[in-house]
Amino acid sequence: MTLKETIEAMPKAELHRHVEGCVRVGTVINIARRHGLTLPTFDPAGLEKIYKLRAPGASLEAVLGMFGLAQASFVSYREVEEIAYEAMEDAYKKENIRLLELRYSPDFMLKAGLDWQRAHDLLVSTVDKFERAHPVVCGLIVIASRSHGLDSALKTMDFTVKNKKTVIGFDLADSESAYPSSLYSPAARRLHQAGIPLTVHSGEEGEYSQVTETVKALAPRRIGHGVRAADDASGATVELLKRSGVTVETNPWSNYLTRAVPSVEAHPLKKFLAAGLRCTIGADDPEILDTHLNKEYLLAVERMGLSLDDIKHTLRCAVEGSFLEPDKRQQAASWLGAA
Ligand SMILES: [Zn+2]
Repeated sequence: MTLKETIEAMPKAELHRHVEGCVRVGTVINIARRHGLTLPTFDPAGLEKIYKLRAPGASLEAVLGMFGLAQASFVSYREVEEIAYEAMEDAYKKENIRLLELRYSPDFMLKAGLDWQRAHDLLVSTVDKFERAHPVVCGLIVIASRSHGLDSALKTMDFTVKNKKTVIGFDLADSESAYPSSLYSPAARRLHQAGIPLTVHSGEEGEYSQVTETVKALAPRRIGHGVRAADDASGATVELLKRSGVTVETNPWSNYLTRAVPSVEAHPLKKFLAAGLRCTIGADDPEILDTHLNKEYLLAVERMGLSLDDIKHTLRCAVEGSFLEPDKRQQAASWLGAA
């Protein structure tokens, strides 16, 4: 078996994947036709060129700007269900993902004016339906997009607390420099009191001090990306993450495309693992960033110096760091051979 085939066959876990980044090109076109929306082109190959980022973008902001077409696809409840189902189907069928945490930002995804509660209930029932029919365990994380402002974040947090029975965790995403973590300390305390685990996009841009601020101000169980922690030559930031029991959800290809790292080879995942930091590997936004876990693992082995044993270690970190209920994590551990 080639390395590629070995990787494709491996049962996997994904902790960092945005529903909004999972809209297939064909689905964007179908939805636009169905609802009479305009698109730059209805030719799939032509649209792929506009919709998928294949080389590093100018900045994280520029990359986030590419989400407009995906965002416009959530026209009605039917599309919410269709896109979520396809996201799970792609993860299972194309990548053999058996533990899948999907996250979405209600304020971003439901901009068309859909009711948050109705859309959330639909996502929950779609996940349940998929889980019942496939050997996959799955859960939903609700995101507050920092760039939508503090009021939006507080509204999203209230919504998450209200739905804590059907949400496995809460995430703060994007624009960390403009909206530093300390702004959200009171919100994080409320989430902790409600027993809702927290993950935070941190150290994707900016300075390593932001990672320290995130850990100290918000006490998250996980952080997304975290690459800037590697810039601290003293190693103190990585030590703080370790000491705090934080799992880092790395997304190497995403970091390369947003210029968080200058090359795939320069990604600090191997350094993090060598330092004893618990890390997972995610695809972030597979459709828009033109990636998936098969590709991420292959890059990790061929260009980032990881061994297949390192990859298996990241899978154990994923099962242990997952926000899913213990019985679902146990089920995933047995599928992944990580028990
Ligand atoms: Zn992300």
